Amino acid sequence: MRKEEKRRNSLPELFERLHRRSGARCEGNKLGLDCTARLPKDSAPLIHHANGNPGNNDMSNLVLLCPNCHSKVIEELSEKRRKAYVKKVAEAVASSVLATSE
Ligand SMILES: [Zn+2]
Repeated sequence: MRKEEKRRNSLPELFERLHRRSGARCEGNKLGLDCTARLPKDSAPLIHHANGNPGNNDMSNLVLLCPNCHSKVIEELSEKRRKAYVKKVAEAVASSVLATSE
């Protein structure tokens, strides 16, 4: 009867709605990526959570991305983590080098 039942967390339905909203195109431009690549419906679309909270599946928090843009976004995210990690390792190496070279 009621077709528009609110089942917000059903992923296939989310993909469906995002596809409709974007016209089956990458929404990278929403993230300043200047991309409108076509996303075939049978491809595995990638959903990015704009506020970084994967539990928030609100349409306003979701951006449909092509694999290219998705990896860029992921890279950017992990860049911050990587920098923190590299710094930590560098400090650990520095202190161990000091320790072993007396
Ligand atoms: Zn894209």
